[in-house]
Amino acid sequence: RAKSAGRNGYRFFEQEMSVEAKTRMTLEHSLRRALERNEFELHYQPRLDLRGGRVLGMEALIRWNHPQLGRVSPLQFIPIAEERGLIEAIGRWVLREACAQTRRVSERFGLPLRVSVNLSARQLKCHDLREQVTEALDSAGLAPQMLELELTESALIEDMEISAARLGELKKLGIKLSVDDFGTGYSGLAYLQRFPLDVMKLDRSFINQQTDGTRNLHFIKALIDLAHTLDLSVVAEGIETADILQFLKSCRCDEGQGYLFSAPLPIEAFEAYLEQIAVRQATA
Ligand code: C2E
Ligand code: MG
Ligand code: MG
Ligand code: MG
Repeated sequence: RAKSAGRNGYRFFEQEMSVEAKTRMTLEHSLRRALERNEFELHYQPRLDLRGGRVLGMEALIRWNHPQLGRVSPLQFIPIAEERGLIEAIGRWVLREACAQTRRVSERFGLPLRVSVNLSARQLKCHDLREQVTEALDSAGLAPQMLELELTESALIEDMEISAARLGELKKLGIKLSVDDFGTGYSGLAYLQRFPLDVMKLDRSFINQQTDGTRNLHFIKALIDLAHTLDLSVVAEGIETADILQFLKSCRCDEGQGYLFSAPLPIEAFEAYLEQIAVRQATA
């Protein structure tokens, strides 16, 4: 079709492409320099024990403050970083920063906070992942059980052999392992038994669902029961309403995070949040 449209038709097509392609090129280009220019930061979303309502830890979520484009979503730049071989360096920075900040905040509040860090598929394949993790823990002085690594189903099943080997090594360090966005892949369930996982994180698409109420609720309950049968603890992500929180509690869901409690926060705001909670608990 492009051919029969002739020269002008082809040019038109090129122009259409160029907006997206240009943004992508800009991103690719500036992503290479983002680490050395200190453009990344971590935000932290509190994770609560649904029975007692206490803060048990937080998920570290990367943010990129691009000098021209402003804040770029990790959903947009993580895939580019993976493709371009930049994820190893970024991932190493995330691990170090998350462990260091967690140690400092835990000390400050006298709380044993556990931080969870997202790993991409490519990081799981990285042969020195275990060394990276050890190094981050050691330099922060953080106990291994205070670190949890989140992997999506698709990352886990991309290469079952490698995943099994890597997870085994990581598990021996004493850290926790979770499957993120559970229920959104098409991967079957066998891997849940095969890998040494500790935590199942239910994807927020179920937790937030507005339509088809009771069926979805039955489904959530079945997933929680499944996780418990496999000796996994369950974290619901994306809790936004008191109603769904009530329901999750009635299903014995162990932990949760979501806007109802708090959005992901810059480190200073996260500390202010903890301070406020400490005051509330002291005066309760
Ligand atoms: P994820 O690991 O599933 O993280 C949860 C996402 O849900 C976060 O989006 C969080 O801000 C958002 N969220 C939390 N509570 C609520 C809620 O109540 N309602 C709604 N609508 N959303 C909520 P975010 O921060 O944009 O991160 C998106 C994804 O980017 C993450 O999904 C994760 O897959 C990836 N990501 C983030 N940080 C990193 C990182 O350091 N390394 C890697 N490899 N991936 C990362
Ligand atoms: Mg996650
Ligand atoms: Mg998730
Ligand atoms: Mg998710």
